[in-house]
Amino acid sequence: MSQRGSGSQRGPGGQQESGGRQESVLIVDFTACDAHGLCAELLPELIWLDEWGYPMVRGAVPPGLLTEARRAVAACPMMALRLATGPASGPAPAPASAPAPTPTHGRPTRNR
Ligand code: SF4
Repeated sequence: MSQRGSGSQRGPGGQQESGGRQESVLIVDFTACDAHGLCAELLPELIWLDEWGYPMVRGAVPPGLLTEARRAVAACPMMALRLATGPASGPAPAPASAPAPTPTHGRPTRNR
């Protein structure tokens, strides 16, 4: 019998797998960040600097930018940037053959 005994499992990268869609997000530890701005130079698609030089991060990391995101995390001189993986919070992407989604006027939709 397994010693783990929990309902969740970890994937090959140590990420939690709950059976749902996963997404990666960049997280800045502002207590460690020294506003070097290197991360924004390496990943301008997802990180920009505020007026004081601190990084602002845009949403989830698309799969096509994961390598660059990991590179930015590794390059942070203060180890203030990290990549976390968790359950996706937004709606699942529509299949290519599905009709265009109906506008929701900014309100999130939920499947019931
Ligand atoms: S590279 Fe690191 S220390 Fe520099 S701005 Fe980005 S998160 Fe902050």
